[in-house]
Amino acid sequence: MLYRRFPRIPELEISAMSLGCMRLPTIGGDAGAIDEAAFDAMLVAAADQGINYLDSAYVYHKGMSEKAMGAALDRTGLRKSFHLATKSPVWLVKEAGDWERFLDEQLARLGTDHLDFYLFHALSHERWDKVRRLGGLEAFEGFKRDGRIRHLGFSFHDSLTAFKEIIDGYPGWEFCQIQYNYVDRDFQAGQAGLRHAAAKEIGAIIMEPLRGGALASPPAEVRAAFNSWPVPRLPLEWALRFALEPQEVVTVLSGMASVRQVQENAGIASAARPNSLTQAEMAILDEARTFYKRRERVPCSTCGYCQPCPNGVNIPEVFSIYNSAAMYDTKADRSAWYKVSLLKAGAGGNSCTACGVCLPKCPQGIEIPYRLAEAHDYLTE
Ligand code: SF4
Ligand code: SF4
Repeated sequence: MLYRRFPRIPELEISAMSLGCMRLPTIGGDAGAIDEAAFDAMLVAAADQGINYLDSAYVYHKGMSEKAMGAALDRTGLRKSFHLATKSPVWLVKEAGDWERFLDEQLARLGTDHLDFYLFHALSHERWDKVRRLGGLEAFEGFKRDGRIRHLGFSFHDSLTAFKEIIDGYPGWEFCQIQYNYVDRDFQAGQAGLRHAAAKEIGAIIMEPLRGGALASPPAEVRAAFNSWPVPRLPLEWALRFALEPQEVVTVLSGMASVRQVQENAGIASAARPNSLTQAEMAILDEARTFYKRRERVPCSTCGYCQPCPNGVNIPEVFSIYNSAAMYDTKADRSAWYKVSLLKAGAGGNSCTACGVCLPKCPQGIEIPYRLAEAHDYLTE
């Protein structure tokens, strides 16, 4: 395994590959029923391979990921082999006292007296406002002082503008966690966000290096591009190598579900030094990105300039879900997510009244009301 360091936490060596605990093996198709024996074997394999960072969240696996992790670390005796990371469910916090209530519940679930890394989960412009309004930063700083957490950061899903606002808005960040892969190079925080954070000495953890697994089984056209390289290399390796390429990246999280995946991912990370891909290899990845981008339905960069909509439509998220469904052939999964995450909250395309307020704000010139209706029809038909 290769190890890297966060500029602001130089005393720790972090494995370039980390084990994400959001897609653990389960029993009977129930996301809340984690297969304990299989998880134990994965932890043993991860430690054997030199992986030393585990990532969970309050909500993963219907709230069972942290509990399963704590129990597995206890059974295997491997607590000291890993840095533990988990995330505060910002959207569930209703009042200032909730920060501590959630942390204590998470420590109990994990069976530990401290977390090595603690994150505000999935910050966006709106959630960042909430964190500040409800004293989240002061609460986390208190947890650091009393030793319940060691290092403080956030994970992120919103526009590059929002990312910069958050990075620039607090001097105490020690790390950040962003989505990054060869298709999403310029999506959300993206490459520009990585560099912006690095300029402030904030190292990045990468999530979604495989876009929920889609990039490990790409369509024939992308495979053909990869096969043009003289050295045989699996799509998985192309995707992970891209995520590990920037020197600003400290570790790449992959949600793993088996010992074989742990070994494969760790093997790839063990040979992936920063800045090691050639121009020719990057050109092949550009070709693969171009293929996916051609399948994109709406040229929305998710910049968020069109927000807020007076009728509550989450415009970038509607387009993001629509594009994702079309680009990765995941219509059933994305449609279900659209209904749960947006329609239920009244933030779907069907809430648009075509008032036109957003139209002059979009730098891409997207005919937003018309395209929202199209996205809504596609995701609900
Ligand atoms: S046109 Fe639709 S999406 Fe745009 S601001 Fe008006 S209601 Fe919102
Ligand atoms: S619709 Fe336009 S303004 Fe809104 S997020 Fe997309 S690109 Fe940005």
